[in-house]
Amino acid sequence: MLEYLNLEAAEAAVGRKLTVWEELWLNYSAKKHDFILHFHNILFLFLFYSLAPLPYMWIELIQSKKINKYKIQPKVQRTFSDMFKCYKDVMKTFILVAGPLQILSYPTTKWIGIRTSLPLPSKWEMFWQLCVYFIIEDYCHYWMHRWLHTKWGYEKIHHVHHEYTTPIGFAAPYAHWAEIFILGIPSFLGPALVPGHIITYWLWFILRQLEAVETHSGYEFPWSLTKWVIPFYGGAKYHDYHHYVGSRSRSNFASVFTYCDYIYGTDKGYRHYKSLLVPNKRD
Ligand SMILES: [Zn+2]
Ligand SMILES: [Zn+2]
Repeated sequence: MLEYLNLEAAEAAVGRKLTVWEELWLNYSAKKHDFILHFHNILFLFLFYSLAPLPYMWIELIQSKKINKYKIQPKVQRTFSDMFKCYKDVMKTFILVAGPLQILSYPTTKWIGIRTSLPLPSKWEMFWQLCVYFIIEDYCHYWMHRWLHTKWGYEKIHHVHHEYTTPIGFAAPYAHWAEIFILGIPSFLGPALVPGHIITYWLWFILRQLEAVETHSGYEFPWSLTKWVIPFYGGAKYHDYHHYVGSRSRSNFASVFTYCDYIYGTDKGYRHYKSLLVPNKRD
């Protein structure tokens, strides 16, 4: 909620003319309570969980030979009811755990200083903050995920996420409720350590979800932007291998990048596997 009576008052407070984006933000957010703005994150998560996997679902259902060559595990075909069941299960956990967690985190976001005010952050500020969030999340996710692969962690919690040995986009957030909570912590750590504007906060969760859907999609396209633009990016094939091996997996624990697995030696299985692959199989 912005405490300005009108545009002139906002410009006087900022000390300059507002940009177009800032005027839009002023018009949109001025009369909305901060909790409502924070609540938007739940709507975005719901939308992106629901919409981002749809193109992959369509690809899976049309079974085009041209596209099928980019499928990582081509022998496994998913049906509509298969994928819809996964979506329904994800929505149940979303309504019972992920959504309430977002609501409960509101006082924390206020306390750590996620701001809704003007001026809006510059493009560079957003860019660097998002980079920091990705790096912090990736590092912490690596160690928590590794812990989830201990006997206790796997049998009690993580086995649910690994029900999909051939991942699909909808399965990205498919997990035990405790895992949503445990792996949710690294997502909040970045914004907690480097708090920014709520738009950056929204963008962070949206981008992280899109990345998770892509890495669980079951397809690796040569034109995937993320593959070429982001340094040390793991991608779909990297995480697919982690699911393919299942409970015995001791490889590829990182969520986004490959450097943690490289540094701590947990990509050896994957590298060995890749070296054994014959063309046109899984590689
Ligand atoms: Zn795992
Ligand atoms: Zn996964």
